Amino acid sequence: MKYIKKGEEPESLTTWKELANEDWTPSYDLLSGREKTDVYNALLQEQGFICCYCGMRITRETCHIEHLKPRSTHPYLALEYRNMLASCQGESETPPPKPVHCGHKKGEWYDENLMVSPIEANCADFFKYTGSGEIQPTDDPDKQAAAKETIESLGLNINKLQRMRRKAIDKILIGIEDYTNEEIQQLAVRYDRPDAEGK
Ligand SMILES: [Zn+2]
Repeated sequence: MKYIKKGEEPESLTTWKELANEDWTPSYDLLSGREKTDVYNALLQEQGFICCYCGMRITRETCHIEHLKPRSTHPYLALEYRNMLASCQGESETPPPKPVHCGHKKGEWYDENLMVSPIEANCADFFKYTGSGEIQPTDDPDKQAAAKETIESLGLNINKLQRMRRKAIDKILIGIEDYTNEEIQQLAVRYDRPDAEGK
């Protein structure tokens, strides 16, 4: 999980919400067309085109709008841009596709104290990764309960994601075999920066 610095909500969404009157109330189900496209684009941009939870590459076609605080339990936040994220579809590898990780797996779960949220600056500090691609709670005892619950509720340690991480890690390890420590540090810094396309 990587920190997402939330930006301003798209202007078209603000304008659309302001159209509310006695006869018409904007709701998430009514959000469509240009306003919805603008939301998708803004979310993908600010996340660098990676899933808000697992970090896999996403595009407009392979993601959905995720509500950090679920619409069912927090209906008043349904159109709040700060409550929206872009999540991968989190489907199982074997058909029929079932939601096994990230937004769709999370469903209506949200726990103020036990959910590690990607819009909190220190979210990455709750987790550590092994060379085999597992995600685990960090060693800090104050962070372990939330990390454990979040990994479980978002399905972040399933085999599919472990394998994808291992593949990425292996590729990097081969690529940096002859690098000095300094070069490795520089590479790590570069990886954190979006490229020309914002990815
Ligand atoms: Zn994901």
